[in-house]
Amino acid sequence: MKDFTELNLDSSILQAIEKLGYKEPTPIQAKAIPVIQSGKDIIGLAQTGSGKTAACTIPICNRINISDNTIQALIIVPTRELALQYATEAQKVGKIRNVKAFAMYGGEDSGLQEEKIKDGVHVLIATPGRLIDFIYSRRIDLSQVATLILDEADEMLSMGFYDDLEFIIQCLYHSHQTLLFSATMPEKIKILAKKHMKEPIEISLNTGVMTPKNLEHAFFYCAPHEKEDRLVDLLKFFNPNQSIVFANSRWQCEKLQKILSRNIRDVDFLHGGLAQDVRTIITNKFRTGKTKHLVATDVAARGLDFSGITHVFIFQLSDDSDVYVHRSGRAGRLDRKGMVISLVSKYEMRAMKKVCLRVKCEPKWVEL
Ligand code: AMP
Repeated sequence: MKDFTELNLDSSILQAIEKLGYKEPTPIQAKAIPVIQSGKDIIGLAQTGSGKTAACTIPICNRINISDNTIQALIIVPTRELALQYATEAQKVGKIRNVKAFAMYGGEDSGLQEEKIKDGVHVLIATPGRLIDFIYSRRIDLSQVATLILDEADEMLSMGFYDDLEFIIQCLYHSHQTLLFSATMPEKIKILAKKHMKEPIEISLNTGVMTPKNLEHAFFYCAPHEKEDRLVDLLKFFNPNQSIVFANSRWQCEKLQKILSRNIRDVDFLHGGLAQDVRTIITNKFRTGKTKHLVATDVAARGLDFSGITHVFIFQLSDDSDVYVHRSGRAGRLDRKGMVISLVSKYEMRAMKKVCLRVKCEPKWVEL
């Protein structure tokens, strides 16, 4: 696939794509767009940073019937940030066609959200909880939804949204297309897909290795009590363009930000306990490069597209190697080079071995 003109898209969408500066489709776009246009279901195992958001928003905005002021595409995502990211992309792709896209999530005034929906929304992006509130209180009509997208399905599962997802799927009892995207494919997701999807086409861009191949995986050995100081040293040593530091809890996230800020400039923190407007400000500052370093928890950083990140630091390895895949995927997006540095103490050697097996790498030790 050489360019977007071969994809049977409306000229208004092609113009918008040109304005976005996308010269040619990414592999997932080249594979997924024709299948989405054919109306078939998809299970997509996609690398993070693969251009998945536009792979969905392009055919969806292309297909919306503008004269019909109903919700025709419903996108379910785990976090508010990801909802906003999708809405922004859909607004850009659908701008010239006048497609109306809107992100709805918890923590914001539901009265205003209701007004917005009444006003007319074609593409609704929602987090499960808030959507279910609207369904229960009969404030939303999903009868015209032609495409349902479940994105970051594995993350929604690990956040405990399985029953909510089933409920939402069951609310769409008319025939519709379902697209399910996930970075990993746990058994429960397979079961969900089998139960609710019609002969889905499988699109896998991970081909064995579950993290982008342009990533370098490195490990730094130190004693547990030295980790905070050594993190400062590592950041100073690598001096990244932009970096994200993963913490395992809100408490740890704030503590690390305080320690780093004493030594390094431009460090913010992001976790799910912050008010939504604060999260949006921090996210935007980081995305536009005004902040260089972000200490974050997994929930807050999941799925976010921060294209300037060159380094990911993992303060404490999780025993679950899926967590590593998600974290490391924040760097090296869209084939840019990236490095992941995990701080490993003797208590995390087992987790490190699991990670190395998972991403098929030999442990490469960093020395300062
Ligand atoms: P995503 O995987 O959807 O988070 O996208 C990662 C990044 O790729 C975003 O910054 C997009 O704006 C960008 N992107 C998406 N599609 C293309 C494309 N065809 N060409 C260049 N950049 C793209």
